[in-house]
Amino acid sequence: MIVMKFGGTSVEDGKAIERVAAIVASRLEQKPVVVVSALARVTDSLVTMSQMAASGALAEGLRLHRQMRQRHFAVLASLLNGRGETEVRDRLQTLFDSLEDVLRGVAALGELSPRTSDNLLSFGELFSSQVVSTAFRARGMDAVLVDSRQLVVTDASHTRAVPQREETNRRLRQSLKPLLHADRVPVMGGFIAATADGIPTTLGRGGSDFSAALVGAGLGARKIEIWTDVEGMMTTDPRLCPDARRIAVIGFDEAAELAYFGAKVLHPATLIPAVEKNIPLYILNSRNPESKGTCIRAHAPASKTIVRSIAAKRGVKVVNVRLPRIVAAQGFLHAVFEAFDRHACPADLVSTSEVSVSVAVEASRHLDGLIDDLKRLGNVEVEDNKAILCLVGEKLRGRIGVAARVFSVLASAGINVHMISQGASEINISFVIEERDIPEAVKQLHAYFFAEREGDPPSLVKQVFRGKAVPREGTRSFTRATGQGL
Ligand code: ADP
Ligand code: ASP
Ligand code: MG
Repeated sequence: MIVMKFGGTSVEDGKAIERVAAIVASRLEQKPVVVVSALARVTDSLVTMSQMAASGALAEGLRLHRQMRQRHFAVLASLLNGRGETEVRDRLQTLFDSLEDVLRGVAALGELSPRTSDNLLSFGELFSSQVVSTAFRARGMDAVLVDSRQLVVTDASHTRAVPQREETNRRLRQSLKPLLHADRVPVMGGFIAATADGIPTTLGRGGSDFSAALVGAGLGARKIEIWTDVEGMMTTDPRLCPDARRIAVIGFDEAAELAYFGAKVLHPATLIPAVEKNIPLYILNSRNPESKGTCIRAHAPASKTIVRSIAAKRGVKVVNVRLPRIVAAQGFLHAVFEAFDRHACPADLVSTSEVSVSVAVEASRHLDGLIDDLKRLGNVEVEDNKAILCLVGEKLRGRIGVAARVFSVLASAGINVHMISQGASEINISFVIEERDIPEAVKQLHAYFFAEREGDPPSLVKQVFRGKAVPREGTRSFTRATGQGL
């Protein structure tokens, strides 16, 4: 069997869903399980209407609700042309009524808990899976709508719930195997799950990719296909740099680093189940189903370029902790990291010296408690509006001097580097820069590392080493943790 996951843009309207139906129909003999995201922009809109409801603007929230309902009904009508529409319209209407009830409840309380937020956000995939499964049936496929909340079991860490793999696998096998055996096509919403007691949870934004991988690993899929709106995994985000090129084959390690450091095309947790079961993943374009896409697998041929791809992660904060001079440094680092651990706040990037630590973290994490604890250890300063720029490639392993080249390229573009770290995996080098500098930094670095083949020093190198480009003042230089010499 295989898993086919279709992202928001792949199911954004009737035409897109028609394409999806044709793609799935072309693979029926491979026994697909289909995982769908909410229609494009629906989850964002659910977030907005939830916040409106919680902040006294219920009427505006309900206006968005009405628009969302009209959109889904219009998509359904365009797909069915009146055939068997009443039953599914009733089911959709019931779901929209429940959504309205929850919104009214939030407005009455004036508060939006993570648990209620998960409940609200889960509607996007409940709607889309209804619409898509109905469209499949109208085209003669024996599609069965499956409720992911009954199959994917997680803990109760709402908004980023962690799957309980054994129980999930047991339920996936029990429910889906008989359907596949009978040549039926299960259709389920991605992103959504529930605790063992049935309380709805979500796997974190962009989590439908992760759902697909969980299903693939649970059922022992031959491959997992992630259908999206680009040609595959590319040398950088094509929205930032139109010169980005498709990568034909990439290793699990490299793809995981890229996903973690902001390549939105893949949710960061997706590769964990795939690696465990050694299942290849394919990134494919639903608007161009004939194109080859990207294969992500255990081993990939070496890239021609030093860097395989460049990722950028926005929404980052840097927490600086500095020990007061008079205090002994012993135990300082341990205490700082222990505090991060206690507050379940993963450090994306770390730079240390004996008396100071800088840690880059996702800005969306709640930091108040952590900061209070860190203030007991030293002086704390938090810098906002930062981003992490990450260069990934197997060829970076043990390679000297790449960081210096990055510094030079960025310096000549007038871009300040705040922190640098060479990842523990040795296949990435990451930099903290201002968020607003991301487009220019990516464009410049992509031009530098991908314009010419390795071995032909790009023209910029000559320019840079004529002494023009030196890291600007204010650039924090390497510290012991970074490992890589300039
Ligand atoms: P979906 O709705 O299908 O899940 P996403 O918007 O989550 O799609 O992910 C696809 C987007 O990821 C692309 O439109 C592209 O802008 C972005 N992206 C970021 N980095 C990369 C990369 N290295 N390769 C391809 N796409 C990337
Ligand atoms: N619909 C969810 C989101 O927008 C999950 C996904 O698209 O993967 O985050
Ligand atoms: Mg996505």
